[in-house]
Order: sequence, then C-alpha cells, then structure tokens
Amino acid sequence: MRTPMIAGNWKMHLTTFEAMELAAAIKNGISTDLNREVLIAPSFTNLQVVKKAISGSKILLSAQNMCWEEKGAFTGEVSPLQLKDIGCDYVIIGHSERRKIFYETDDMLNKKVKSALKNGLKIIFCIGETIEERENQQTYNVLKTQVNNGLKDITDFEMSNLVIAYEPVWAIGTGRTATPEQAEDAHIFIRREIERIFNKHISESIRILYGGSVKAENIDDLMACKNIDGALVGGESLKAEKFLRVINYMTK
Ligand code: PEP
Repeated sequence: MRTPMIAGNWKMHLTTFEAMELAAAIKNGISTDLNREVLIAPSFTNLQVVKKAISGSKILLSAQNMCWEEKGAFTGEVSPLQLKDIGCDYVIIGHSERRKIFYETDDMLNKKVKSALKNGLKIIFCIGETIEERENQQTYNVLKTQVNNGLKDITDFEMSNLVIAYEPVWAIGTGRTATPEQAEDAHIFIRREIERIFNKHISESIRILYGGSVKAENIDDLMACKNIDGALVGGESLKAEKFLRVINYMTK
C-alpha cells in the first residue's frame, strides 16, 4: 500500500514573511486524519522559517535542489549537509527547470542522487519529456534514459528513500495538464522500467507522483488512476486554499 504524497514546489517565489504565512495557513488547514503525506519545498532562504512554521505538524520539508559535494569551494551552491542540518527531509532532484535552464545533465543528477542518499535526505526525482519528444514518439525512450542514468548504481535498499515525479515538460506551468490516461500510461511504463532495473517489490512500492498544471479542479481525476500516487504541484501550491483542496482530493 503506497501512501499518497502531495508536494508543493514553491519555486523562486515568496518573501520570508509570505512563506511563513503560507506555511502556517497550510498547517492550520490540514486535517490530521488524512492518510497522505504533505510536503513543501520553499526557496533555500525560506527553509528555516518554514521549518519553524510547520513544527508540530507532519508536513515534510524539502529543498528544490542541492550540490553533490558536501563542502568546499563551490560558490553559490548549497550542500546536502547544510540541508540536513537545517532540518530538510527531502530534496527535489532533476526538475525540468534545472535540466533545461541550468543544463543539469543525467550524470550530474546521478551524483546528486547518490550524495543526497548518502547524507540521509530522501529524494523526489523528476523525469519527463518535452512536447517535441512526445510528438516524435520518444516519450518512453526519454523516460527510460532518465530513469536508467539518474538512478545508476543506486541500491535496492536506497530506492525506498526515493519518490519519482513524472512531469511532462509541456504540462509544467502551461495550464495544459496531461490527461489521466496519458499520465497513467507514463506511470505504468516507469513502474515497469523500475521493475526491470530493480525488482517487482520496489516497482510496486515506489511512489510515482504526477506533476504538470495540477489544480484543485483536476486532482480528483488524476488520483483516481491506479498508478498515480500523488502530485508535485507548482503554481497551485502558492495559494493555501487551492493547495489544501488538492491535499484534500476526493474528500471535498
Ligand atoms: C512543478 O513545478 O513541478 C510544476 C508541476 O509546476 P505547475 O504545477 O505550476 O505546472
């Protein structure tokens, strides 16, 4: 039985005060009896204040990125040791904005995955195809490559600390959500690939989130799919009321 996860990626938004207020509103709005994990990923500068705002709740804290090195001369980077020290539970690795805008390669992402796991951080590992790749029938190839390269040399045991987020690039921040059928199809493919690389137990227990224009209005249909175990939510996670509606999918 996979516990669903609803994760909010706040990207490069919100001042410290705004982040604190939003985190507090989410904390106060969550009903404690729901069997689902909730995670928020603020900017590095807001991690500490959000950690404080969610204390006493079960909300998980995630960074949006990290360096693979633990310390040293890496100006402008933040290390897994520092994220752990500040109280992060998770780190997002491989978001398409990191791949596309900051040229993060599969090899760099694999180093980040290994370093995060070594330092006791859990991971949301993002994969997904561009619109050109989808139109050229390359979706499966892209997902296969990203999974194989990004998770190279990761042990079966370490896989229990990893969540995959399928985020078609064409659906991120565009308002164009994948249909539940398109998302489910990709999730089934990813699960089969995980079984091929690792084993059946891992493929059946790993959580695969969908991300890409998830809204209060479409979350119920997505979550009705057997292989969708939650959502990675961008824009809709910046408004407490909307994000709470996503968290409370199928109940309200
Ligand atoms: C994201 O940032 O991972 C994302 C899915 O964004 P949005 O929900 O805004 O499309």
